Amino acid sequence: MPLNIKAYLDYAATTPMAPEAVDAMQCYLTSSSNFANAASSQHSYGQNAASAIDNARLEMARGLRCNPKDIIFTSGATESNNLAINGFMLGYQNRGNHIVTSAYEHKSVLDCCRHLESQGIRVTYLRPDSDGLLTMDSILNALTDETALVSLMHVNNETGIMQDIGCIAHALESKGIAFHVDAAQSAGKVPIDLSLMPIDLLSLSAHKFHGPKGIGCLYVRNRKQAGLRPLLYGGGQEYGLRPGTLPTHQIVSMAAAFTLACARQEADAGHCRQLRQMLRTVLGGLDGVHWNGGQNDAIPNIVNVSFDGVGADALLIALRDSIAISSGSACNSGAIEPSNVLRAMGIEGDRLYGAVRISFGRYTTADEIEQAGQSICEAVIRLRKLASE
Ligand SMILES: *Cc1c(COP(=O)(O)O)cnc(C)c1O
Repeated sequence: MPLNIKAYLDYAATTPMAPEAVDAMQCYLTSSSNFANAASSQHSYGQNAASAIDNARLEMARGLRCNPKDIIFTSGATESNNLAINGFMLGYQNRGNHIVTSAYEHKSVLDCCRHLESQGIRVTYLRPDSDGLLTMDSILNALTDETALVSLMHVNNETGIMQDIGCIAHALESKGIAFHVDAAQSAGKVPIDLSLMPIDLLSLSAHKFHGPKGIGCLYVRNRKQAGLRPLLYGGGQEYGLRPGTLPTHQIVSMAAAFTLACARQEADAGHCRQLRQMLRTVLGGLDGVHWNGGQNDAIPNIVNVSFDGVGADALLIALRDSIAISSGSACNSGAIEPSNVLRAMGIEGDRLYGAVRISFGRYTTADEIEQAGQSICEAVIRLRKLASE
């Protein structure tokens, strides 16, 4: 760990765990009565673990305002997205063979759709308008008699732009088309009330809201009637939809993190709005700054920005020992490919190749933002000077 590290501003890739979630987890690792297999129903050790999982399921359901029986624990949003899309299409082949999604979904949705295309399913990839939003018309126009499923993300992981999923859910319900939402970036950060929104499938991931990595869930409305096909076969856990010994410590910890995030939602969002304003003010002191993505339809903890004449790679290298920010999403940052989200929004050229994502959250301090903002300004000025020499 470099000693001059100033700030971790990559919360959209993953968040540090809340101390409350760490505490919750610790009780289920070694404690003599709590480590047992939740499926060992013949003894009280197993029953203890099972009841902890029941409670966690209730907590998740309370936060999402849904039936606890409709929550399936998975290893995270990647798995939830795969189970939702692949599992739904496998189980519903007779209902139509067309999926509508967007060009800017997370890889776990896009690659799942690509796989299904190779199996003969037709997929439409919608493009957003220049604000990064899908219009209701573009969604409705893409639907055909063959459309079985629409899969869209709630909050985009690179720009923070938020789609009105409630509105879309109502429109699709009236047409009898299933709706899957990837809520990995929004769960715990903005209200999601499943008692009011007729969403059929919803994915979330604990490590995006200060829970542990490797755990998430899929909400399946009316699970029993939904007819999803499992992707794995085994011991029958999670109603046979997701077999495998349940990780009690992960599940309990995710529930603690989610309950905390829901309780602190307004406070955390207010904090992030202040930090975003500070960051915009500091960076706004430079010339040639472009904010990528809607300002008002965006979640307050993600800022996407380009600086004229400065490539993202050069900027990240200049900052890498002191500030953690990213160009695009973590899963793609191994490759030098520019963001497909920004490209879909019609952003091109230097602005596309210069885009960086700065994301923060509950544990980010004003001091960190101030320092990071200054360092970014200095680096931009230095890089521009080098380029002009
Ligand atoms: C992080 C993320 C995922 C993947 O979640 P994992 O739990 O890491 O598999 C999926 N979709 C979006 C929008 C994300 O931000």
